[in-house]
Amino acid sequence: MPQHFDAVVIGTGQGGSPLAVRLGKSGRKTAVIERGAFGGTCVNVGCTPTKSYVASARAAHVARHAAELGVQVSGTVSVDLAAVKARKDRIIGQSRDGVEKWLRGADNVTVFKGHARFTDAHTLSISGPDGAVTDEISADEIFINTGTRAVVPPLEGLERVRYYTNSNLLELTELPAHLVIVGGSYIALEFAQIFRRFGSQVTVLVRGERVLTREDADFAESVRKVLAREGVEFRFGVQPSRVEPHPHHENDVCIGFEQNVPALEASHLLFATGREPNTDDLGLAAAGIAVDRHGMIPVDGQLRTSVPGVWAIGDVNGRGAFTHTSYDDFQIVAANVIDGGSRSVDTRIMAYAVFVDPPLARVGMSEAEVRKDGRAALMATMPMSRVGRARERGETDGFMKVMVDAQSRQILGAAIHGIEGDEAIHTFIDTMTAGAAYPTLQFAMHVHPTVSELVPTLLDGLKKMV
Ligand SMILES: Cc1cc2nc3c(=O)[nH]c(=O)nc-3n(C[C@H](O)[C@H](O)[C@H](O)COP(=O)(O)OP(=O)(O)OC[C@H]3O[C@@H](n4cnc5c(N)ncnc54)[C@H](O)[C@@H]3O)c2cc1C
Repeated sequence: MPQHFDAVVIGTGQGGSPLAVRLGKSGRKTAVIERGAFGGTCVNVGCTPTKSYVASARAAHVARHAAELGVQVSGTVSVDLAAVKARKDRIIGQSRDGVEKWLRGADNVTVFKGHARFTDAHTLSISGPDGAVTDEISADEIFINTGTRAVVPPLEGLERVRYYTNSNLLELTELPAHLVIVGGSYIALEFAQIFRRFGSQVTVLVRGERVLTREDADFAESVRKVLAREGVEFRFGVQPSRVEPHPHHENDVCIGFEQNVPALEASHLLFATGREPNTDDLGLAAAGIAVDRHGMIPVDGQLRTSVPGVWAIGDVNGRGAFTHTSYDDFQIVAANVIDGGSRSVDTRIMAYAVFVDPPLARVGMSEAEVRKDGRAALMATMPMSRVGRARERGETDGFMKVMVDAQSRQILGAAIHGIEGDEAIHTFIDTMTAGAAYPTLQFAMHVHPTVSELVPTLLDGLKKMV
């Protein structure tokens, strides 16, 4: 007989862990199952390690440019990747251990270590690393938070070469001589700038004609320009078709292309070519839970799957691919299932940042989306060179943009590529969440000298979009 629980959470990602604790606190006998590292992608191989590398990379960059601010740093600036990694390991170790301790100490929560698989809609088997089933549990309420993993394209010769994804690249202790990155997304660009600032030669291979295809072309170009100025090389309109070991240098890789493009040699090859959901090995068919053609689990506004009593939260539901969207999913489910509310993901205003330096942060609609929508709208842009804070810091790259509805005066979307854009964007996020029209923000008194201080001035420049 399976051991019965009121609720089970599969995966300890950014939504799953707090949800397990809340379910336990609500009096439900709760189980949480984790097959890998506690804390999931963000803590172990995503946000936390990459942002600790961004910090090290920025320290190197600032040291190299200190003379521009009248500060002399003697000698050459170099990066000890083993020390950078050790610092990162300490930071993520603290978070991972913190999540595990939190779960193990939570009221009414039992932690299972192993791989969960549905055997029917409300029963799960749990197996160890050797595949042998160690436990069987059933539950009235099941919450899937199994996340995603890196996609590696099926290139000819891949089985014969050494290659990397976001996970194992973060295990390196020696700097790559030449890091070749396949992909033009935010993960690709963050790694490109990090390793360039660490001192590696970096080449980014982009299938299309520009990076960051989800963003407006002017923002994508603004980010590309900064990285190119720092020495990141970009090749557009290229797609690797085959790889093979270098004939003379052990571990190096030769990359060939379909197009009439000369082959490229890399000491390290990183794939940042998208993410796929951890749903193929979850036994979803046995539970009758539908997936879409990408393997994502479709959910309604309340994050319910096609099977009553089963929810999907985090990246795996295809409604967001960020730590904050996974955490927001937890809050929506907790509000509805535990507190009897009726919150919906459908009204969520999407926001995120790309943590290149300076960051690109965005909320709501892009300019392209507003134009496609066809509504009467106003728009304003402002270069970061007008922002006192940016001039004082000597970092004036980038610009801000905002779009508002001409009639309702509601903010439709905004983006900032510039220093502290990842913080300043919250002035827009909060105004939009409050449902206030833009004059509320226009007449707010902001602190001097900050980036947010220029947001009211940006709004003063709104003009009809043509
Ligand atoms: C390089 C990189 C950088 C990123 N940077 C940022 C950033 O700066 N900001 C941001 O907001 N987002 C960032 N993200 C995205 C972010 O990491 C994810 O959106 C976030 O972790 C949310 O994931 P989740 O809660 O859906 O699940 P995850 O965190 O992926 O956790 C899923 C957990 O489920 C476990 N699991 C899977 N299948 C099973 C099973 N069958 N049985 C038991 N356990 C299972 C896994 O081991 C894992 O621990 C980044 C991602 C990457 C890869």
